[in-house]
Parts: sequence; C-alpha cells; structure tokens
Amino acid sequence: MASEDKKPKAACFDGEAARSLVKELRETFDAGKTKSYEWRVSQLKSLLKLTKDHEDDIIDALRSDLSKPVLEAFVSEVKTSITTFPSSAEIVPEPLGIVLVISAWNYPFLLSLDPVIGAIAAGNAVVLKPSEIAPATSSLLAKLLGEYMDSSAVKVIEGAVPETSALLEQKWDKIFYTGNGKVGSIVLAAAAKHLTPVSLELGGKCPVIVDSNINLITTARRIIAGKWGMNNGQACISADHIITTKDFAPKLIDALKVELVKFYGNDPLASEDLSRIVSSNHFARVTKLLDDDKVSGKIVHGGQKDQSNLKIAPTILLDVPEDSLIMNEEIFGPLLPIVTVDNLEDSFNIINSGEKPLAAYLFTNNKKLKEAFVRNVSAGGLLINDVALHITNPYLPFGGVGESGIGSYHGRFSFDTFTHKKAVLYRSFTGDASARYPPYTLGKLRL
Ligand code: NAD
Repeated sequence: MASEDKKPKAACFDGEAARSLVKELRETFDAGKTKSYEWRVSQLKSLLKLTKDHEDDIIDALRSDLSKPVLEAFVSEVKTSITTFPSSAEIVPEPLGIVLVISAWNYPFLLSLDPVIGAIAAGNAVVLKPSEIAPATSSLLAKLLGEYMDSSAVKVIEGAVPETSALLEQKWDKIFYTGNGKVGSIVLAAAAKHLTPVSLELGGKCPVIVDSNINLITTARRIIAGKWGMNNGQACISADHIITTKDFAPKLIDALKVELVKFYGNDPLASEDLSRIVSSNHFARVTKLLDDDKVSGKIVHGGQKDQSNLKIAPTILLDVPEDSLIMNEEIFGPLLPIVTVDNLEDSFNIINSGEKPLAAYLFTNNKKLKEAFVRNVSAGGLLINDVALHITNPYLPFGGVGESGIGSYHGRFSFDTFTHKKAVLYRSFTGDASARYPPYTLGKLRL
C-alpha cells in the first residue's frame, strides 16, 4: 500500500462548509441557548466528565503526538497541578510601554485627555494625535501639554492622514483610537504588523426604543438633550433613531415638537444653544441623507438648514424606508428618524439584526420589558429611561462591542486598558514533590 494511502483522508472542509458551520453556530447563539446558567454549567460538567472518563485515551493521544511521559501528561494536562504547592502569588500591574492615542473631532478635548489620563495613570509614555478637524483644540492641546507635561514622556503630534500614517508605521505597545470604523480597520491592520494591542472606540447607530408606558414630557426632554443637546447629534452615543409603536408615534412627535420649541425657539437656526455641523464636508454628508429621494415627504418637523453657517435644525422624520441612506449609516447629525413597529419587542430583533450599536436606550416603566431589553439586546452599553448619561458614570466601562469597538475605558477601566496584569508566583525551596522529576514511575504517580 502506498504510504499516502495510510494517511487519514483530508476532511472535505471548504469555504461552503465553513459558512454553514458559522451559520449554524450563529443560529444557536441567537436562539439564546448558550446564555443560560444551566447550559453553561451542564456543558462545563460534560467537559469535566469527558476528561475523567477518557483520562487514558487523552494520555495515549498525548503520548502518540508528543511522546509525552505519562506522569508529565497527567500532572500538566489532565489533572490540576499540585506542583506549585507551597507558594504564594500576586498580580503585578505593569505599564504597557509607549502608547499612541488618536482622537476624534467631536469632543476633541475630552476624547484626547480621557485616554491620556488612563495611559499616564498606568505609567506609560504617551503620544497624542488630536483630530485635525478640530484644529483650535488640537493646537491648544499641543501647546498646553507641551507647557505642563514632562515632554520626555508625553508628546502631542498634530496632523492629518500623512502624520497619523507615519505614526502608525512605528511599533507601539498600545494604540488607542477613537473615530469611525473604516479608519478603525486601518489602525487595526497597522497594529497587527507588530502584534500591538488596540482599543477601538468606534460609533454606530444608537437606537432609542420608546414604550407608551412612560412619563412623556421627561422622555421627550431627555431624548432632545441626548440628541440635539449633544453637539447637535454629532456624538457617538447620541440618539440615532427612535423605534416606537405605530399608535404611540404621533404622541411622541407632538411632545418632541413642543419641547424643541421651548429649548431652541421657533427659529432654531438662530439659537445659540445649538452647535453647528463641524465642517462643510459633514454638512454635505448630513444634507445628502435628507435629500435622498427615499425620504422625501417624510419630514414631520424641522428640515431647515443654512450652509453659510453650517447649521441644520433639529429634524424629525417618520417611517423612512429601511433601505434609505439615513437608515444605513450612522447619522451623526441633527436628523432623527422614527421607525414604527406593531409590537415593541420586535425592536429587539431589528437592533440585533444590524451592526452592534455603541449604546441602546429604552424608555419604559414596564419591568418585564426592561428585563427583556437587558437580556436580549447586545450593545456597548445600555441605558434605561435616559440617553447618553451612562458615559458619565466612572464605575461603568465605556466601549463598544462588535462593529462599535474593541475594549473599554473610564475610571479604573482606563487604568486596566493601559496595563498588563503580570502573573507572579513565589516559591520557596521547600516542598519539592519527587513526582515532578523523572524517572517517572507508577509508584510516584500513586503518591
Ligand atoms: P476624525 O475625522 O477626527 O478621525 C479620527 C482620527 O482618525 C483623527 O485623529 C484623524 O486624523 C485620524 N484619521 C482619519 N483618517 C485616517 C486615515 N486614513 N489613517 C489614519 N488616521 C486617520 O473623526 P471621525 O472618524 O469623523 O469621528 C466620528 C466617528 O467616531 C463616529 O463614527 C463616532 O461615532 C465615532 N466616535 C466614537 C467615540 C467613542 O468613544 N466610541 C467617540 C467619538 C466619536
């Protein structure tokens, strides 16, 4: 028999098989099966049982693959090791080294200093690259950090794509990036070359589910504060769109209209309390969402804009089609589409069928709905009965999941983000088990 005949036949696992494998797992996961306590415990018990039932088979396989001595296999791969007794252990936090922080324009001061604080608190040296789209803040940060900080360890490099690209070619011990997902992939690819860990603080479409069992006025005011009151919608955790029932939508719209006039008057473009759009490029981007044929006739409030001062009024749209531009990219501006559903729980499926948002919000007094929301909706963070305020709690990690980011920070999580947890075990010269050393004998194993 030719030697190839003896080889096990290669399993037929091609792209199609890989696709169906992932599909099957996704279906299991989406059905919620793996989340239950009982399932996790039963599966871990099965793993333990598998190991116990097949101890001999495992040792045989290890011996066949690696000629691993039975006793070594037993203590290192099959049984929990007793070889470290007696000993003591500690976790020593260690700074990662030199850190690159790349920040975004929309909260240009906060998004620069917040990670820099974490990096310094953990003992790293840091280079900050602020956003060129907020040039006044960028140059102020460069000036002030230059004056106040130890310039041998804390530096600011100003610039745009060429400067950031030059920085990204270097080997860093951590890259902390805030901005959009497309550039996030560029950062991740650059980091991969040096196996550099990254935190990516990205964005997404943050939904606000509104039940009818609420305090309507407070809800309207909080949605306005979390949308137009945050940089006129140019915030990563601002309300992107609302999901509510068909019946309730008109009441909610009326309340929003009344409160909007109270906050910004009848001519919001003239209001001092409303931020402008950051640049003409972003003004054109937001305007394009409104000019999309698919949303014509859907504006129920606002819609005014003034190119000369880059202002766009708070604008509400009702029942825009699913395939409109506005429903397929992060709005990051003052437009608020309202999507209606027959049953509010349908909103969980709508959210979970899209990219994972950085934040998701629910307004309700219904305890069961709150519980179902927390259990079923995946997002970087959840907030019930308000918008955006979770970011201010230093005891909560802030960050995304899936497409909305990798890693988190704020409070002690910032320290952790920029720290390596070094595991240290201390042994004395006593308590040396002879079973640890060859020659390995069954007699030693029984001891
Ligand atoms: P931006 O244009 O300021 O870009 C962010 C940074 O990336 C800047 O420093 C910029 O110089 C750099 N950059 C841009 N293009 C690059 C390239 N080709 N190569 C390397 N570096 C490049 O900000 P933005 O991306 O418009 O910010 C808005 C996005 O950021 C939104 O999606 C928003 O949701 C998200 N965001 C997230 C958070 C968060 O904390 N998760 C906070 C703010 C904004």
